[in-house]
Amino acid sequence: MASPRIVHVSMECLPFSKVGGMADVVGSLPAALRELGASCRVMTPHYPQLHDGRIDAEIAAFDVWVGDSPHRVRLLEAGDDVLVDQPAAFDRPGVYDDPHSGEGFSDSLYRCLVLQQAARIAVRDGHVPADVVHCHDNHTGLLPVFLKDDGGPPSVFTIHNLAYQGRYGADEFWITGLSEDRFFGHSAFEFHGDLSLMKAGLSYADKITTVSPSYAEEILSPDFGHGLEGVLQHRRDDLCGILNGIDEDYWNPGRDPALPAHYSVAEREGKEACKRALCEEGGIEYRPGVPLIGMVSRVTHQKGLDLVGAILPHLLRREASIVLLGSGDAEILDLFRGARGRWPERVALFEGYNEALSHRVYAGSDIFMMPSRFEPCGLSQLYAMRYGAVPVVTSVGGLKDTVQAFEEEWKTGTGVRAHWATSDSFQGAVDYALDLYEKPKLFKRVQGNGMKLDFSWTRSAEQYLALYRGLMGESAPDPAPEAEPETGPGADA
Ligand code: ADP
Repeated sequence: MASPRIVHVSMECLPFSKVGGMADVVGSLPAALRELGASCRVMTPHYPQLHDGRIDAEIAAFDVWVGDSPHRVRLLEAGDDVLVDQPAAFDRPGVYDDPHSGEGFSDSLYRCLVLQQAARIAVRDGHVPADVVHCHDNHTGLLPVFLKDDGGPPSVFTIHNLAYQGRYGADEFWITGLSEDRFFGHSAFEFHGDLSLMKAGLSYADKITTVSPSYAEEILSPDFGHGLEGVLQHRRDDLCGILNGIDEDYWNPGRDPALPAHYSVAEREGKEACKRALCEEGGIEYRPGVPLIGMVSRVTHQKGLDLVGAILPHLLRREASIVLLGSGDAEILDLFRGARGRWPERVALFEGYNEALSHRVYAGSDIFMMPSRFEPCGLSQLYAMRYGAVPVVTSVGGLKDTVQAFEEEWKTGTGVRAHWATSDSFQGAVDYALDLYEKPKLFKRVQGNGMKLDFSWTRSAEQYLALYRGLMGESAPDPAPEAEPETGPGADA
């Protein structure tokens, strides 16, 4: 069987850029696919302000049309990856917004279109040949439409987070260059009067995946479907959940250069040194034998850190120390700022984004909290387990699929799960983890169970490869003209 040529297209990808887990996934899945014999390239923007790594060559230069003007694009080769260079669109201080002002860029649709039109032409004209184009999240949702229009290769569309839908006002539709009569309707990708890039991807990709089996089920319901559950139900035969893996070389406490000491499941002494160093770095007291609870997160409603804010006094009464690395919602951060002011010896707060520090938080923490209200997959809990921080999570999406509740009787399981995303339920779960911490033998067991888990990409990469091979033999029909009606929270009254 010929080795399939897969082209991934994504707004973020490590090592060039990162905002959330999608960058880790697009940065590490291709290597696993290559190991299985696929030929794989990632097309992603060239953000000169975020990455100044090596460029090997210029592959091509051409104009892409966005609205009524041409924009010169250069395709730059960087190792196996292809960077789309268009300074007006991508020479910015952030991927989606300006980290200094926190404001989103007002020309987001134009920026997504530059990437997608560049990918379309690169594939169509053979600069980057593809048997399957794999599109990631709403920013690439129009690419399946372009490919179908061009008679191009089949596409896979992966939902990394259904909450971010790429909705734009109807007045912006014209810059897509697509026919309004054909595509700006309920059965295409109009969504409550707006243009929805997410709906475009869901309607026109040949296959849809999301990043865990449980999330693939959940998003079919109004509680998790963000108004697109009807569209997803219509495509349910083409939808599946494939669990994310992690790059086990990069995330390895045995030789991670970001850590002050190294350790493994067999030799865990180094973890205590990491805890001591993290306390120093965070300006809190190092107290051996007292649990340090960590969090690394975007601070948003999704991630439920407000629930932690509500139980902070309780956790501190229970003698725990707390460390948060995160940025986002000012109101939620205020809860932690307040706690830091009140208990400066016990609460460490690192505001902002810091990749190396995130490794030190996973390594230095005994317990890791992740009270997400919904979680497509979640990578933080995987890194936490690998680094011996016992995760306490809510029972949703990928958290449910990756964190097995510890059973004292059988000594199985890797963490603790709260039934509900409420502060009471979550407090009960953290209390149980703190109780376990007081029983060192049991705690060591649950910690070791997590550290030993295999979260490598191999199995998931095999599933993707099977999907690609299926598509190379057969391509899905055009979407039916009448999609199911949208319902749920985003629906019109
Ligand atoms: P999401 O993609 O929804 O943000 P994931 O758990 O899938 O959540 O992935 C989050 C990724 O971003 C992890 O790699 C985590 O370590 C990283 N991360 C989140 N916040 C920060 C931060 N403030 N500094 C460094 N890394 C962060």
